[in-house]
Amino acid sequence: MFRDRTGPGERDMELKKLKNYINGQFVQADAERYVEVSNPATRAPISLVPYSRPTDVDRAVAAAAAAFPAWAATPVSRRVHGLFRLATMMHEQEEDICRILVAEMGKSMADARAEMKRAVENVEVACGMPMLQQGDKLVGCSAGMDGEVIRVPVGVFGIIAPFNFPAMVPFWFIPYAVATGNTIVVKASELVPNTMQKLFSMMHDAGFPAGVVNLVNGDRVAAEALVAHPGVAGISFVGSTRVAASVAAACATTHKRFQALGSAKNHLVVMPDAKLDDVVRNMVTSCYGCAGQRCMASSAIVTVGPEVHAEVVRRFVAASREVLAADPLDPRHLDEPMLMGPVISAKNKAYIESMIARGVEEGATLELDGRGLVVPGCENGFFVGPTVFTGVRPGMAIHTNEIFGPVVVILNVDTFDEAVKIINEHQYGNGASIYTQNGFWARRFELEARAGMIGINVGIPAPVAYLPFGGTKNSAYADIKAQGADVMRFFTEAKVITRRFWNED
Ligand code: NAD
Repeated sequence: MFRDRTGPGERDMELKKLKNYINGQFVQADAERYVEVSNPATRAPISLVPYSRPTDVDRAVAAAAAAFPAWAATPVSRRVHGLFRLATMMHEQEEDICRILVAEMGKSMADARAEMKRAVENVEVACGMPMLQQGDKLVGCSAGMDGEVIRVPVGVFGIIAPFNFPAMVPFWFIPYAVATGNTIVVKASELVPNTMQKLFSMMHDAGFPAGVVNLVNGDRVAAEALVAHPGVAGISFVGSTRVAASVAAACATTHKRFQALGSAKNHLVVMPDAKLDDVVRNMVTSCYGCAGQRCMASSAIVTVGPEVHAEVVRRFVAASREVLAADPLDPRHLDEPMLMGPVISAKNKAYIESMIARGVEEGATLELDGRGLVVPGCENGFFVGPTVFTGVRPGMAIHTNEIFGPVVVILNVDTFDEAVKIINEHQYGNGASIYTQNGFWARRFELEARAGMIGINVGIPAPVAYLPFGGTKNSAYADIKAQGADVMRFFTEAKVITRRFWNED
């Protein structure tokens, strides 16, 4: 997917070389390699991203560590000033950021705007840190004694992000880490580094003191150096489960705090009483938005009963055929609500297509095949069309594995209990939803389905910034989730103070 650049060539002169942001300045990386980032729909080159070396990480961590004591001692009411300014800028420049994001990631403008909305929402929630970071006091915890819990910042945190939400995912952490008095080093995804570059230029303008926020570009070499760095107190990681597991293990052995969110296979259960017109529209958005590359995208539908199964298959396959695949920055489609862009890379496209072939080999019925889709004007783009399998059983690789593309498997069972069993026995547990008008089924589903985020008649049950975001089972190596009060706890240490005063006699 990338052309590797090891030396200056003609096109390097035209393409912008991205920089790291360390100690309040954009600086050139030590990198020996610069790799081309291109638009996944058109393959137009965008920039060159440096693959930073551990020495770059050392420099960023040193800057963050040097800035920590003064920043931690800055009153929380002052620490949030920069966040207020940043939120205003993010609102004002939303359209510019979205265009950068869409050009490098390939989601629709509508999806990019929704992503930015959630990113800013997290900044706004963190602006309330003077309320969020308050501790607790118990007067009279024992005879003549009071007990108090205070929440103090911890040190330097590393934040490592995936490609699919270039703005939102880092902002599940950045504003909270900073508002609580920590300093940070962000490692953006090497596949989509331009969005963070823009957002760091805005953080620069927002006026954070030098060293409080730092950015290192690069691949796993920089990420691993950050995870291993003795000067780092904790890591917030989001990405695939394979990497999340290794990050969690590395942090555990080096006594770092960690939250490592991983992969997903999110199920949608359709009960016989569901309102199918609304449900099918909702499922199409859930399954094909961002070309299925959302950690909260649904990729498995479970119908309960033969009648609803036949009807869901008929309607869902028909609706899937109607999904428009196109270049999201084509002016004709800029405001299209249900447009499907490309997947991120040739490698991912090949994997998705190999999983479709695997489903056929496994004996599932391919109702709609998205392989070989050619979008006029984007002949070299990484497009895969909507793909639907029926006749799927648990244990098939197309059900067990995350495919992370627009591929949907439909399973059929006879009872609610069987549907919940499929969800609960699955290795992943990020999101799960049920479509029903029946409060009894809805309530049982809330309590019994093993997933971190549950939807009742909601296809993408992604929590707003005030609520915790995170899964369970192999979808998360974390006891404390992203966003809101949860992540405030991750970025602070609870110290308990026990006080006694003697009177004069
Ligand atoms: P990825 O795991 O390939 O990469 C994620 C990040 O980890 C990148 O910045 C990458 O450079 C870095 N990295 C790679 N190897 C590393 C290593 N050995 N040590 C430390 N860091 C390393 O994931 P991706 O393809 O960018 O993103 C897609 C995945 O992310 C999907 O599995 C998706 O489900 C998941 N995701 C999960 C959530 C969630 O909330 N659970 C949210 C978004 C994405």
